[in-house]
Amino acid sequence: MKAIAILGSTGSIGTQTLDIVQQYPDRFRVVGLAAGRNVELLVEQVRQFKPEIVAIQDKTKFSALKAAIASLDYSPILQAGEEGVVEVARYGDSQSVVTGIVGCAGLLPTLAAIEAGKDIALANKETLIAGGPVVLPLVQKHGVKLLPADSEHSAIFQCLQGVPAGGLRKIILTASGGAFRDLPAEQLAQVKVADALKHPNWTMGRKITIDSATLMNKGLEVIEAHYLFGMDYDNIDIVIHPQSIIHSLIEVQDTSVLAQLGWADMRLPLLYALSYPERLATNWEPLDLVKLGSLTFNAPDRQKYPCMDLAYAVGRAGGSMPAVLNAANEQVVALFLEEKIGFLDIPKLIEKVCDCFQSQNSQTPSLDDIIAADRWARQEALNEMKKLSQGDRVVAVMS
Ligand code: NDP
Repeated sequence: MKAIAILGSTGSIGTQTLDIVQQYPDRFRVVGLAAGRNVELLVEQVRQFKPEIVAIQDKTKFSALKAAIASLDYSPILQAGEEGVVEVARYGDSQSVVTGIVGCAGLLPTLAAIEAGKDIALANKETLIAGGPVVLPLVQKHGVKLLPADSEHSAIFQCLQGVPAGGLRKIILTASGGAFRDLPAEQLAQVKVADALKHPNWTMGRKITIDSATLMNKGLEVIEAHYLFGMDYDNIDIVIHPQSIIHSLIEVQDTSVLAQLGWADMRLPLLYALSYPERLATNWEPLDLVKLGSLTFNAPDRQKYPCMDLAYAVGRAGGSMPAVLNAANEQVVALFLEEKIGFLDIPKLIEKVCDCFQSQNSQTPSLDDIIAADRWARQEALNEMKKLSQGDRVVAVMS
């Protein structure tokens, strides 16, 4: 019976993880749950899974949480605020912490979990992208496992099983192409938030769905792959694969290419991150190649989607730059979701923020440096947004 804690339990990753726990009551036990602000769903989850510790990040929701929990037939430890989320991350005898928080807000709880000796089932890619230079040494120091739950990185990790050290030559990340893959580039200026939130293959949280529409998600995954697998940026490729059946591939030294296939269902990578190295039997629909008929691939359009090259450049610059890219992206995506900027403003603003930071980049940032870079980039993104003249701005809401 593996004890697990789930950070971001009310989100897409969190609820799918709980679905797995429900399907394997003899294998997994939930000891901790942490959410942002969705008290109603959190309380429902507490009622069902009976964790020992529960946290809500938004302190204004704490009294509602306390009141609802008081009516239950047991009394878990209740916590509030970022400190509360950190407490859940490092609590008690949990062996594995699923990081389903969105954004760099996951950084401190993830570090706390690592310091407490927990294995990490990593969905929250922003944490590794921003905090790579501090996360990776800590993983080494505490001898914990950093197991990818992102579908692409899980695919690579699965393909790597049995490949000897030095055998990996190239990583090929697949990308669905996002909401606008079939839309001519000239029409991107007019797209609305609701259009960008329509992902063709996956149902996910709002932020990652926008990242998929800009292909920043793929850029972030390039940096994530670099940190997770130690692969040089020159040897990480992106290929568009509209069916999202091949979740990524590796090329080994003799040119053999290994791929992992499956339906677009996040429960599979989440299950593997929790059960590794075991392969648990599921009653999920098996992949049917005949039903699929064909799988197709094409090259990504780097002009239409500049976020990919931006991420490669930032990854190569290293140090605090990925934290700046990530924070600028989080801020700018939030502005887009609030309909304050247009779709094409997203890469434009992020690039400006990254350009401004270049001369201050430290190659060996401390945690404080990373947090400072993150704060600076968010503010700088807001400053740059204000500088956009009304004429320059591609306002989605006006179209
Ligand atoms: P969602 O928006 O669906 O869920 C985010 C979760 O984080 C919610 O539980 C939310 O709580 C919680 N949360 C938000 N801010 C905070 C905070 N400051 N402190 C604590 N909890 C917080 O996102 P997803 O589940 O889609 O994505 C989560 C992460 O997983 C992201 O990093 C994403 O890139 C990654 N990922 C997601 C995939 C997917 O299929 N969804 C696939 C691959 C990676 P509440 O709702 O209560 O406010």
